[in-house]
Amino acid sequence: MSHTVKSGNLGYPRIGAQREWKKAIEAYWAGRLSEQQLHSQLTEIRLHSLRQQRDQGIEIIPVGDFTYYDHVLDMAVMFGLVPERFDYSGGAVPLATYYAIARGSKEAPASEMTKWFNTNYHYIVPELGGRQPQLTVNRPLAAYREAKETLGIEGRPVLLGLYSFLKLSKGFNEATEWDRWVNLLLPLYVRILRELAAEGAAWVQMDEPSLVTSMTDEDMKRIRAIYDTIQREAPEISVLLQTYFEAIERYDEVAALPVDGLGLDFVHGANGNLAALRQFGFPAGKVLGAGLVDGRNIWRTDLYRQEELLQEILELASGAEVIVQPSCSLLHVPVSARQEVELTPVLRDALAFAEEKLEEIVALSTAANKGMDSVKAFFERNRMALDQLANHPARNRTGVAAAVEQISAEPAARSSEFAVRRRKQQEKWQLPLLPTTTIGSFPQTLEVRSARQKWRKGEWSQEQYDAFIQEQIRRWISLQEEIGIDVLVHGEFERTDMVEFFGEKLPGFAFTKGGWVQSYGTRCVKPPVIYGDVDFDQPMTVKETEYAQSHTDKPVKGMLTGPITILNWSFVRSDLSREQVAYQIALALRKEVEALERAGIEMIQVDEPALREGLPLKRKDWAGYLEWSVKAFRITTSTVRDTTQIHTHMCYCEFHDIIDSIRALDADVISIETSRSHGELVHSFEEHTYDLGIGLGVYDIHSPRVPSVEEMTSMIDRALQVLDPELFWINPDCGLKTRGVEETVQSLKNMVLAAGQYRAKASLTGIK
Ligand code: GLN
Ligand code: ZN
Repeated sequence: MSHTVKSGNLGYPRIGAQREWKKAIEAYWAGRLSEQQLHSQLTEIRLHSLRQQRDQGIEIIPVGDFTYYDHVLDMAVMFGLVPERFDYSGGAVPLATYYAIARGSKEAPASEMTKWFNTNYHYIVPELGGRQPQLTVNRPLAAYREAKETLGIEGRPVLLGLYSFLKLSKGFNEATEWDRWVNLLLPLYVRILRELAAEGAAWVQMDEPSLVTSMTDEDMKRIRAIYDTIQREAPEISVLLQTYFEAIERYDEVAALPVDGLGLDFVHGANGNLAALRQFGFPAGKVLGAGLVDGRNIWRTDLYRQEELLQEILELASGAEVIVQPSCSLLHVPVSARQEVELTPVLRDALAFAEEKLEEIVALSTAANKGMDSVKAFFERNRMALDQLANHPARNRTGVAAAVEQISAEPAARSSEFAVRRRKQQEKWQLPLLPTTTIGSFPQTLEVRSARQKWRKGEWSQEQYDAFIQEQIRRWISLQEEIGIDVLVHGEFERTDMVEFFGEKLPGFAFTKGGWVQSYGTRCVKPPVIYGDVDFDQPMTVKETEYAQSHTDKPVKGMLTGPITILNWSFVRSDLSREQVAYQIALALRKEVEALERAGIEMIQVDEPALREGLPLKRKDWAGYLEWSVKAFRITTSTVRDTTQIHTHMCYCEFHDIIDSIRALDADVISIETSRSHGELVHSFEEHTYDLGIGLGVYDIHSPRVPSVEEMTSMIDRALQVLDPELFWINPDCGLKTRGVEETVQSLKNMVLAAGQYRAKASLTGIK
């Protein structure tokens, strides 16, 4: 056929196969590398990735996607948008200032950081404020030049488009100041593009991921105005308008924008984008970037299936030039699966990190250009790897699928409603008004961390390590008693990470050696891999919890990570729906809950800090997600006796829009973070009454500062203007594992005093 399909990439991981990037930047922060040394090390990493992509046969290689911290911060800094609290008088932004905005300095606190769409990457939120934007440096141009001059690579510069840049920024009023900011920034974009064109760049990749979130008529007008101007003012350069993470909204209008190409996600937005393509076709003469390889997961692609999809796309977009590319930047996957030699071969062969994904992209485009015969061996090997994983016993664990099917049909509800449970629980526990508790973890001191190291390295026997953990538990049980807390915890000393801990004990999980991805700045995470059926093997938390309980007469609360948080913080198998995987985890955790209850632990907390962040990008999809995630939580928690008290915890308080789902969890007690946005929360409870047990964090655990009793009493007083004191609990915002011992004890003492003051007042005034 007459098509020539090209292979392209949208962004490469920055961190390096061995996290060299992180190590270099952190060494610079620690003063162990000079700025000059940092530049030369990062340049090496950057050039290495470019060479890698070229050698793999990628025809369209992105340049300018590399960063020293975050690509959104890079845009802001390129425009001189340094928050006003930092000293800056125009011109190139010094590296020290760049990092100060990202991380805070003595001079001023850092900029806010927030989730990049629905990924686990976090970007620095640009603050528009009062500075006059200017082009301090043409970053994409520098990147383009470097690739060309050093490697002879004709790269395609990447920029975050103006529409998304403004949508992601704060410090301006979108309703009244949008046009003003467009007028300030658009000329700078135009200048960047003209300079690129003058240097010889033919194309630019303009990332506009905000086009997949909801778009009003006004938004559509705004985006049209931006790209009309770009087309008019910089006609010499071709623009690929790149979207990802979902299907775009208003496809027909977006496809008609005056740009030269449109990039669509045919993995995470497959249904919507394909339906739109079928309905409206694709404008002749434009380039279509077809995201066919998942940029967000670590599995090999079903190449036969994607090749078929590519053929359909080629037909639907006949007359267009098509680029095969990942669904989004590869920054969301690790660099190379080659080093995973310790995994079982079946699992290892089914993995595809960035390098392997680029191979697949080349194979798909080759198949389209030269016919299937030219790639047969590769396609076959790929299929075999996927088949072997599909047939692996770990994916076909006896009883798991059947159990999930059965539970799907059941309502998963506690046997009595909250009012009944509450009465029975009160009788059983006899807790005082405003009971005090904590969220689970206590300080993970150097001592604790080094003990775990010794045990992991085999320097300590299991017995030695267990004895050490027990000693910590005893120490903190008696500290909690001394402080006067009502509901105790064992302290989570045996856990490094709340998901990893359970993943290591549940069948169906695997841990890679080098599967690191960037979470924010230089912080990298190595998500567990859910590759098989998840099942319960043996109790995971009973030993420590029971031990803690045996040292006190007060109730000790068991502590589990919930199914949705485990799901959302892992790489998940893609042959099952997320809902089904969630139910598998939920059923395994149910057995843990039951084991705790059998062991006499009758208060059990199931943490779900990641519930909210799993919300889909499109509002219309929220209800579906919330329904099955609430159900998963209930599967885990609903089989206990009425007298067993289920707690949950979430580290945020933007609740108002999901309050019905939070209520539907039907947890006897929820503890949430609020100390940093107390006013807002109180306000949201004015609108929605909450009639289950609730604890509002009365102090911020993110700071080492010891809060005074008065600060906490005033928080309590305000909360009790809208919440029922009989349902109210007192606790810190979140777990205390990052805090020091001294400040923790002092803060908790003050917290207990604050609760005591309220109780004294209440008994005088006869509240209860
Ligand atoms: N129980 C966990 C802890 O205290 C909760 C952590 C979290 O909410 N992220 O550490
Ligand atoms: Zn928390």
